Amino acid sequence: MDLFGKLSSYDFGEVHFKLDKATQLKAIVAIHDSRLGPALGGCRFIEYATDDDAVVDALRLARGMTYKAAITGLGHGGGKSVIIKPKGHFDRVGLFRAFGKFIDDLRGHYITAEDSGTGLEDMEIIRTQTKHVTGIDPSHGGSGDPSPFTALGVRRGIEACVKFKLGKADLKGIHVAVQGVGHVGYYLCKELHAAGAKLTVADVDKLKSERAQREFGASVVAINDVASVECDVFAPCALGAGLNDGTIPHLKASIVAGAANNQLAEPRHGDDIHARGILYAPDYAINAGGLVNVAQEAQGYDAGKAREKTLKIYDTIYDICERSKRLAAPTYKVADMLAEEKLAAVSKGKAHA
Ligand code: NAD
Repeated sequence: MDLFGKLSSYDFGEVHFKLDKATQLKAIVAIHDSRLGPALGGCRFIEYATDDDAVVDALRLARGMTYKAAITGLGHGGGKSVIIKPKGHFDRVGLFRAFGKFIDDLRGHYITAEDSGTGLEDMEIIRTQTKHVTGIDPSHGGSGDPSPFTALGVRRGIEACVKFKLGKADLKGIHVAVQGVGHVGYYLCKELHAAGAKLTVADVDKLKSERAQREFGASVVAINDVASVECDVFAPCALGAGLNDGTIPHLKASIVAGAANNQLAEPRHGDDIHARGILYAPDYAINAGGLVNVAQEAQGYDAGKAREKTLKIYDTIYDICERSKRLAAPTYKVADMLAEEKLAAVSKGKAHA
């Protein structure tokens, strides 16, 4: 890989690597931007086909965190870490302890949290080595699982879209098709059900979709059918790149608003959705509730404040919808523009200081 070329194409300045042979730790910390504050973002722990794939994943995710923090008005920069999961047997405690030491060596320039493949237990191990970790156990003053906050923010974003696009002030009778009912999808169904929405769900894990059926009266469809369900809102809450050449022509919802990161397979798919007259809630703007929660933890956790800020995702999404209409521009471009304006304002402020 042309490493510095890659860094430059993602507008990066700083990436740290750590190899610890004793524990098989191979970790990357990508710090995209720290104009708004110390970089905050989760730690992904999955297998990668190549080291290059891991680097690109870290760069792409860290950049997304910069935009997410900026548009949500958080005093944090964008960062993300990736640990390449060893193929064979490994000592998880030793590995995450070594990772914690690595984070501590960065002296607070990057603050970590959970992401795919890591959980509360891992954050607790990291905590033995550094204070620059969030998403820790509530019994230790942490904020715990961020998923309920992410789901709360997504529900608020859906409400904003429904108000803007369908002119309805609440979700009573609104039909939402949820793709993926894992951590966030489950809590989102709970929120939507309580608000009177009608649910259709799909998950590769049958037990999870059956739980949503049992608890929230959701209809269950096959995973290949959920994107084309006749409904008001399609909510992608599984993996990224679900909005692509194969799915967009078949969408029947008038709104796409869900928790998944990197929903657009490529930016041009945001243009395709816009051209079809479907309202798309930009992923990093609507799914920021979890980040709000861990950012609050970094300042001394207060669940009430985190909730209050998460509820404001409604305003952010509504503002994006209005500007998109006014400028006749796709929502994903409007969100990028708003985030970049906020970042530019800090640079300007610093230049004048
Ligand atoms: P999760 O792994 O708990 O849930 C994902 C669910 O999707 C699983 O139940 C999985 O079985 C299912 N799934 C996988 N492929 C599928 C497919 N093709 N069709 C239908 N279902 C499928 O993950 P999560 O924490 O709930 O996160 C979901 C998404 O939201 C991810 O993209 C994540 O990056 C994003 N996100 C999560 C948070 C958070 O707080 N957890 C915050 C921001 C963004």
